[in-house]
Amino acid sequence: MTHDPHCLFCKIAQGQIPSRKVYEDDQIYAFHDIHPWAPVHFLMIPKAHIPSLAQVEGQHEALLGRMMTLVPKLALQEGCNPYPEGGWRVVTNTGAEGGQEVHHLHIHVMGGPRPWFKG
Ligand code: AMP
Ligand code: ZN
Repeated sequence: MTHDPHCLFCKIAQGQIPSRKVYEDDQIYAFHDIHPWAPVHFLMIPKAHIPSLAQVEGQHEALLGRMMTLVPKLALQEGCNPYPEGGWRVVTNTGAEGGQEVHHLHIHVMGGPRPWFKG
């Protein structure tokens, strides 16, 4: 598995920088966003260093499928209300014009009662 020694989210996935863990398995790590936009706001990352969605290839199909399939389970576990009255928002900022600040692929999952702090 590839890691970038200078990457913030690689360090978080490896436990070198503390985070509030939501979920972990052999390939995926999820943790609360440090500046939440919503009552529920966590990030899901692959443990392997992939800079963004722009670098995703066929070999990542199962990984991305697993991440997306985990979203409903983790969203409800973290306090999002059930669909359709509740729900959540899934966002992956990609590149400078996509608003990406941390260059390690991540999925934002946001939810909880409105109004949100942002967005
Ligand atoms: P993006 O703009 O999509 O790259 O978002 C990066 C997100 O990472 C932002 O929402 C930040 O609040 C969040 N973030 C940055 N540093 C940390 C950290 N140490 N722990 C948790 N979340 C972080
Ligand atoms: Zn990384």
